[in-house]
This record gives sequence, structure tokens and C-alpha cells, in this order.
Amino acid sequence: LLQMVRPLEVLGSAARDLSRSIGFVRPMLDFLREEPEAVVAVSAAGPQAARVGRAAGGAPAIRFEGLNFGYTPDKRVLDGLDLDVAPGLTVAIVGPSGSGKSSLLRLLLRLYSPQSGRILLDGQAIDTLRLDQLRGQIALVPQDAALLHASIASNIALGAPAADRESIVRAARAAQLHQLIVSLPDGYDTLIGERGLKLSGGERQRLAIARALLRSPRIFLLDEPTSMLDSRTEAEVMLAIREATVGCTTLIVAHRLSTVMHADEIIFLSEGRILERGSHTDLIARVGPYAQLWRHQVKGATAPPSPHAG
Ligand code: ADP
Ligand code: MG
Repeated sequence: LLQMVRPLEVLGSAARDLSRSIGFVRPMLDFLREEPEAVVAVSAAGPQAARVGRAAGGAPAIRFEGLNFGYTPDKRVLDGLDLDVAPGLTVAIVGPSGSGKSSLLRLLLRLYSPQSGRILLDGQAIDTLRLDQLRGQIALVPQDAALLHASIASNIALGAPAADRESIVRAARAAQLHQLIVSLPDGYDTLIGERGLKLSGGERQRLAIARALLRSPRIFLLDEPTSMLDSRTEAEVMLAIREATVGCTTLIVAHRLSTVMHADEIIFLSEGRILERGSHTDLIARVGPYAQLWRHQVKGATAPPSPHAG
């Protein structure tokens, strides 16, 4: 864990590996040139101070502007959505199943295009970027990560194929997966996927998190990354995610409020619109949908987590 909070080192090697292997050299070099001071500021002044400092002035890291989107013409999924995310902040997105949370992340990756409105990264419309430039800056932990029939090590290194074993192990440790891996006869070389070792849902989630952490992206998108973990593992993985994403702009979709309450800001989405936004403390003090959801979860804390289609 401690090693994950030495971002300079991790960012440096991952960025070099990425730029070498995928070839979007320019943006990565710009990134290396611009980011170190900001990263140092994070460790020197503490995450909160640095976050506020970076958030002041300048373009938002991500801007969703008047987004209207539906998969089919007859059903609107995002309804005139506006949202700015300041650089380095963590924004949590909560809301009922089907409210458009995953769709918002998919639009940011340009897996779909909005019918109207646009998304900007650092003030630049994402449809003016090359896809590799766009996606090279972003790591997504999807709700259900795809696995390759390949070794655990190369599954973790998907997206950072030149990563060395040491960084892979560091990412696996942070994602609480290392102990399991070393207990296998072939360790990091164990074949998984279709015809290999079957991983449980929670193990797949941790692998997807390790994969994302290894890439050290500027932007982290996490779509219910811990929904299949027990609450103890969830707490450990969330701590690792929080440490690894200090200074990264992060959007996290989650159902468990214990996951989202640490976010800088919480967005409550319903039918493709933002119903409420604010910090956990702000929202709890209101009598809105977030406070209602929170009371509901606190009351039901002893019951098993309810299944959700998400
Ligand atoms: P959430 O992540 O908040 O649960 P989604 O963004 O996945 O919600 O879905 C929003 C709405 O879009 C839902 O009504 C869902 O059924 C619909 N939807 C999601 N994915 C697709 C798809 N690939 N094709 C058609 N409809 C979809
Ligand atoms: Mg979803």
C-alpha cells in the first residue's frame, strides 16, 4: 500500500511503458512534464490541501455539457445533464438502477455518442481527440471485467503490456489480490479465463482494479468496483483505491454508501438527471433522496446486501 502512494515512481514507469508500447507518446510526455509538481504537492501538503489548490482556477478536468442521450430514440437515458469535475477530485455517482450512471461513463469513453451536448476533457471536446488519446488517459473498472485466457500477470498488465513484474505485484497487492495469487502453484503465471482457473466475481473485480491501478491514468472510472466484495475486503480495496487515486480525477459509481461517503462530491442521479449534489455531510443534513438512501442502508446494515441489476 505504501508503495502505491509513491505516485511519481509509479506514474513514471507506467507512463514510459505505455508510451513505448501503445505509441501515444506526445500526450504522455506532456503529462510527465506537467504533472510532477502537482503530484509532489499532494504528498507535501496532504491530499485535501493539494486537491483544493488544484481545483482552483483553470478548466474542469471533465465537463459534461447539456448531455442528451438514449440508446434508442424512444427512451431518454441522460436528460440535459451538466456536470463539472475539478482536476484531482473524486466524484461519486449514486442513484437507482437504470438511472444512467454506467451510460455516463460509456459516453466519456466514446463507446456511444450523445444525441446532443458534449463532453470536454481539460477544455477540449472529446470528439476532437483520437480514440487512443482519449482512452489512453482513462482507466475504467467496469461492472464486469473481461478476462483473457492468459496468465494472471498478463491479465493485470492488459493496457500496460510493458509493465515489469514488480509493478504488477504492487498493483495486485494494492487490490488485495497478491495473497491469493501467491497461494496458487503457478503464482502469477497461473492461466485464467475460459479454459483456465475460474475466478469468483470478487476476484475478477480485484483483478480489474489491479489492472486499472497499474495503468496510473489521469482519470479513473470505477463502475461499482466493489459490489461483489465482502465488506472487509471492500474496505481494504477502497482504501487502496483512495490512495492510488489521490491527484487523479475519479468518477466512482457505487451502491454502498460506505464507498461513496469519502468522495469530494456526491451526485444523485435519477432518470438521467442530477437530483442532488454535495458532500456526504451536506446531503445527510437535507431531507432529500440521498439522506433517504443512507437511512435505508444504515437501518438494513445487518441484512444481506440486496441484489441490484445496476
Ligand atoms: P445504471 O448504470 O444507472 O444502472 P445504465 O446507464 O446502465 O444505468 O442504463 C440506463 C438505461 O439505459 C436503462 O434503462 C438501461 O436499461 C438502458 N440501457 C443500458 N444499456 C443499454 C444498451 N446497451 N442498449 C439499450 N438500452 C440500454
Ligand atoms: Mg450501471
